[in-house]
Amino acid sequence: MNDQDNFYRELLDSLSDGVYFVDELRRIVYWSGGAERITGYSRQQVIGKCCADNLLMHVNSAGDLLCLTACPLANTIADGQPREADVFLHHADGHRLPVSVRTSPVRDQDGRIVGAIEAFNNNASRLTALQQLEEWQRAALLDPLTSVANRRYLEMKIQGSLLDLQRNQFPFGLLFADIDHFKRVNDTYGHDCGDRVLKMAANVFKSNVRAFDFVGRFGGEEFVIILNNLNPDFLAESANRLRTLVERSLLIEEDDEINVTVSIGATLALAEDSVESVLKRADQLLYQSKANGRNCVTIG
Ligand code: GH3
Ligand code: MG
Ligand code: MG
Repeated sequence: MNDQDNFYRELLDSLSDGVYFVDELRRIVYWSGGAERITGYSRQQVIGKCCADNLLMHVNSAGDLLCLTACPLANTIADGQPREADVFLHHADGHRLPVSVRTSPVRDQDGRIVGAIEAFNNNASRLTALQQLEEWQRAALLDPLTSVANRRYLEMKIQGSLLDLQRNQFPFGLLFADIDHFKRVNDTYGHDCGDRVLKMAANVFKSNVRAFDFVGRFGGEEFVIILNNLNPDFLAESANRLRTLVERSLLIEEDDEINVTVSIGATLALAEDSVESVLKRADQLLYQSKANGRNCVTIG
């Protein structure tokens, strides 16, 4: 985990509010320290569970169960509108606890709704504005420079694709791409220009994957692309297409034309993989591409 991820995680964990994210199927993918404190449910107990799974069982003041009919998270995922509600959640110790919840949609880089965030607290203060919630959501999930997913969000998505592979046999491929000799770009043209090259590379990936694929910035000049529902025969072709498109992209800076290449490690996920193991394999394949002269793809 890099420093930025730790920073945001600590930030979310330090809030007295509880914060959690659900994916489009309302599976809980993140559960903050505040959420643990308020509800009594630990991360291990809730990650991967659906929020309607007999867990928080929000009820309104009339005692009606909201999960199946009026769940603010489900409604926010359905229509993209943020919501606020005063509900009672089910504490791990059994009792009902009054909380104010605010929900907001989580969108991917193309603006599609891919889940929702809920923040809740059990004090009377309702000072936290919805706007602030949206800023947290952005800060927590997207890389500020390139606007592709940050490492944490990327890892959540790999976990989701692994679950789909294990439960539904949906195959997926993972590409680990690293810009070649990127240090030279910084050294020759300056850091700002290096930043623009990073944005260019991110845009090449974002613009040339399918709607259900996923692009994230793993760190510095390293990107990871999830090719969901991939016919294994197309792994090499997809990786090489992206590699060539980066090579053929050009940043025009005053009198200079700057272009970079990427080395890629490409692998198919296996049912027994973890997020770490599939990333590690792709990274090792990337390392082979570097050793083989860069600007190439190694499949494994
Ligand atoms: P290789 O082909 O072996 O990958 O060489 P490289 O120069 O790309 O790799 P190296 O790891 O030596 O250098 C990566 C550089 O990326 C060093 C670091 O300063 C730079 N970098 C990391 N993050 C950023 C960023 O956000 N902006 C800019 N401009 N540079 C960054
Ligand atoms: Mg590099
Ligand atoms: Mg690198």
